[in-house]
This record gives sequence, C-alpha cells and structure tokens, in this order.
Amino acid sequence: MQRDAFDVVVVGGGNAGFSAAHAAAERGRRVLLLERGPAEEPGGNSYYTAGAFRVAHDGLPDVAGLLDPDDRHAVTVLPSYSAADFAADMAKVTGDRNDKALTEVLIGESAATLRWLHGKGLRFRLMYERQAYPDGDGRQVFWGGLAVGSTGGGKGLIEQHTRAARQAGVEIRYGVRARSLTLDGGRGVAWEDAEGRDGVVHAESVVLAAGGFEANADMRREHLGEGWHLAKVRGTPYNTGDMLAAAIAAGAGTHGDWSTCHSVAWDAWHKENESNRELTNQLTRGGYPLGIVVNAEGRRFLDEGADFRNLTYAKYGARILAQPGGLAFQLFDATTRPELRVEEYDMPGASVVTGNTLDELAAGMGVDAAALLGTVTEFNASIDRSVPLDLSVLDGRAAGTTPPKSNWAIPLERAPYYAFPVTCGITFTFGGLRAGTHGQVLRGDGEPIPGLFVCGEMLGGLFSGNYPGGTGLTSGAVFGRRAGSRA
Ligand SMILES: Cc1cc2nc3c(=O)[nH]c(=O)nc-3n(C[C@H](O)[C@H](O)[C@H](O)COP(=O)(O)OP(=O)(O)OC[C@H]3O[C@@H](n4cnc5c(N)ncnc54)[C@H](O)[C@@H]3O)c2cc1C
Repeated sequence: MQRDAFDVVVVGGGNAGFSAAHAAAERGRRVLLLERGPAEEPGGNSYYTAGAFRVAHDGLPDVAGLLDPDDRHAVTVLPSYSAADFAADMAKVTGDRNDKALTEVLIGESAATLRWLHGKGLRFRLMYERQAYPDGDGRQVFWGGLAVGSTGGGKGLIEQHTRAARQAGVEIRYGVRARSLTLDGGRGVAWEDAEGRDGVVHAESVVLAAGGFEANADMRREHLGEGWHLAKVRGTPYNTGDMLAAAIAAGAGTHGDWSTCHSVAWDAWHKENESNRELTNQLTRGGYPLGIVVNAEGRRFLDEGADFRNLTYAKYGARILAQPGGLAFQLFDATTRPELRVEEYDMPGASVVTGNTLDELAAGMGVDAAALLGTVTEFNASIDRSVPLDLSVLDGRAAGTTPPKSNWAIPLERAPYYAFPVTCGITFTFGGLRAGTHGQVLRGDGEPIPGLFVCGEMLGGLFSGNYPGGTGLTSGAVFGRRAGSRA
C-alpha cells in the first residue's frame, strides 16, 4: 500500500475540483488532485459542457475585460443581468426551494470568480451561436440572461484549468479512484487504481469535488424513481456517487433535493448516445421552443414555449422519460428547420425523420398518422397569429390548445417536415452534501466536520426540479474557489 501526504487533497478533476485546487495552491498549499478518469478522459462532466457560465453583470462594458477580442462586440446588444434577475430565476425554476444562503454567495461572487479564473489564464467569450438572435438591423441581441462561455467549450475549459493547475504546482494523478475517507486521527483518502494498486493520501484538508450519482443506474432508481435506470448518461461515466456514499458513511449530512435531477431532450436513436466524448453536448436537442413536441402516440404533452429554453430544458428530460417508451419527437417544418442550432441539429449522424407530408412523417416516426395530423391541425388552428413573433423575448404569441404553447407559436405548415427523436439524457443529480457557505461539510446536526470540504455537483441545496442553464459551472467555480481558500 502506497502512503503519501499533502496539505490538501482534492477528489475529482472537473471544473469544481480544479477551482478548489487553484485556490489552495495560490495560498502556498501542497495540493494533490485525484481523478478517477484516465489521463485520456479528463475533466468529468465539465469536459462535456458547452462551457456556459451564468453570471450577474451590467452589460457588455462590465464583462468586456473577461472576453477574447471579437469584432461582433461592436454590434452586440447584451442586456444587463442583475443579481436580482439571477436570484429571481433561481427561485422561479426551483419553486423557491433553493438554499438562500448558498444562492446569495453563488450570485454575489459569480462575476468576481470568473475574473479570478481569467487571471489564471482561463478564457471566455460571448456565446453568439447559442444565446443571441440577429435583430434584422445587423445587431446581435442576447436573450435570457446567459451570455458568457469558456473559449473552446468544455474541452477548452478543462485544458485551460489543467494548464493553470500544473503551472501552480498542483500534482494531478489520473486513473485513481478514491474509495473512502478517514476523518478521525490521520485524515485522508483511501484510493485504488485500475491496476489494482491501492494507497492512502494523508492531508490536512480534503476537498470533495467528485460529481453526483447520475452515472450510477442503481442509485438513480433508488433516489429518482422507477424508470430512471433507462436514462442516457450525457456526461462522464465516472460520477457514480462514490464520494457521496463515502462522506455520508463518515458522518456528513445530506442537503437538497435527492429525488430530482437535471435532464434534457437527447438524441434517442444515435448509436453512441452515452458519454460520447467526441459529440459531447451536440447530442442535446434544445430547439423545441421553435416547434412542437409529441410523444409516440402523436400527442403533445408539454408547453414548448413556457419560458426561455435555458429555464425549461433541464426539466424536460424527465417529462420525456415519463412518456410511453421514454420517447418523443421534436417537430419542425421548412420555416423553422433553418433556425435550429447547427451544432446540434446538423451534428454528424443526427437522428431525424423527414416527410413531404405529415402522413409520410408519421410513417417514419412509427406514429399513428391520424393522431399526428389531428395534433398538428389543432395546434396550427389555435395560434394567435395577430401577435408578432419575437424570439429574443417572451413574445406571448401563444397557441391556445392543451397543453398551451405560451410563446413563439409558429404553425407547422410548410413541407418538408422534420421529426427529431428524443429521449431523456441525464446531466447531473441535485441531491448532495450539507455544507456551509465556504463548503465546510456539516454533519446531520449542523456541526462542521474538520478539514472536509465539498463543491460542485456534490454540494447539495442549490437546485430542485429544474435549473437555470449555465449555473453548474458557475457554482463549481464559486464554491470550489471558496473551499480551496479555506482548505
Ligand atoms: C453534455 C453536458 C453539457 C453541459 N453544459 C453545461 C454548460 O454549458 N454550463 C454549465 O454550467 N453546466 C453544464 N453542464 C453541467 C456541468 O457539467 C456540471 O454542473 C459541472 O461540470 C459539474 O462540475 P463538477 O466539477 O462538480 O463535476 P465534474 O466535472 O463531473 O467532475 C467530477 C470529477 O470527479 C471524478 N470522480 C468521480 N468519482 C471519483 C472518485 N471516486 N475518485 C476520484 N475521482 C472521481 C470524475 O471522474 C469527474 O472527473 C453540462 C453537463 C453535460 C453532461
């Protein structure tokens, strides 16, 4: 058995773990980062992301110092997104079940934390391709409060984090799976690797940043409910809840909503639609606000225009999972198809059915043609066409059918027609450990466990039922930095 000692050991090499490692290293601590994935598969879920960071800001001049130069800045309209806006979105999507103390820190430190990462060599840009619409006067108008992303998406984020950590002297060991925690006496982490070697790293502080339990089918079934073992894992296969279990066994309290998770519409028929490191986020199908969604019986079952996509997409995976066969189809026509995100809908090998008539489309989908035709006819007839369409705001252009489509109702009436088959892709789980605002893990009775910190997906309390897009990376950075500044 190998034994070594560091000041701080961080378990998990995603955005949260790296943020903790940077913060501890800048205080002169000797930091070891243990990562379960092999060196060829670094970065956890953070690698798979689009790199979107939700941050409170006061418009373009406020964030310009963070961004790579871009000629489009001159024609960009970036409405401010205040701390109050961010707080309102958190409360709205979680049904007010978000931990208020953690949320205040998350929002209050969002911009400063991105500036801190930028100072360590991490790069950011505005996400024109995902978050802006042209306004017809040559301007790019950002919508929905989410604008800043890492340069190079999740892949770039992890490369830049890794470089910064190495430069600061952090030692990174890949292919090492932490197994258990010793908290009394010689504090440390017991580990094993793929070759069967094992050991213990002793450390003054342990920072847990090992993700949720989304890649563990048994835990999903136990906590999220029957059927969740069938969800497709969008990100890393290594987030199996090891450290949640280890921390709980060592006395940590739990916090947040263990019965819900982040899950989205995801290419249902692509042969490699789990943990695909090549396609990563491209298997997402986020264009439903422009179309309608039907199940395998040809029926609509959700409000595609209930709110901005970033505020609905993370709860709609669960709605799809609950449909017959866990399957649904996003429908578009010749008018809306060109407006869909290229990176997703023109992804190599994207699953799609096309038809010159709705009958032909239904045949390709394996759906009853009369049912589909009935749904589309009723939807088209219920649209209030007197309201102008405006994709950059909640335009109130509704379809008054059941369920309603509250905004952006566009008739499906121009051939060819397109049906994109979608299933539930699980992103991450919301339940986690109980912690103070510096990530100090607390026991069930609220007493801190000395030397034990948590951040990222493992930190419980921020989300429930739904989630505002781009908040996971911001949370990992803010609470990772906080944990590392105390560890
Ligand atoms: C396809 C996709 C797109 C997304 N897009 C966005 C986005 O644009 N913006 C956003 O904010 N969020 C996004 N998310 C969510 C985001 O990925 C997470 O919120 C965030 O990355 C979590 O960071 P983390 O460091 O907590 O976890 P991770 O990045 O998952 O890191 C956890 C690490 O712990 C390691 N680990 C697990 N168990 C052990 C163990 N026993 N021993 C050692 N190591 C272990 C794992 O291998 C992993 O590397 C997306 C997720 C996916 C899957």
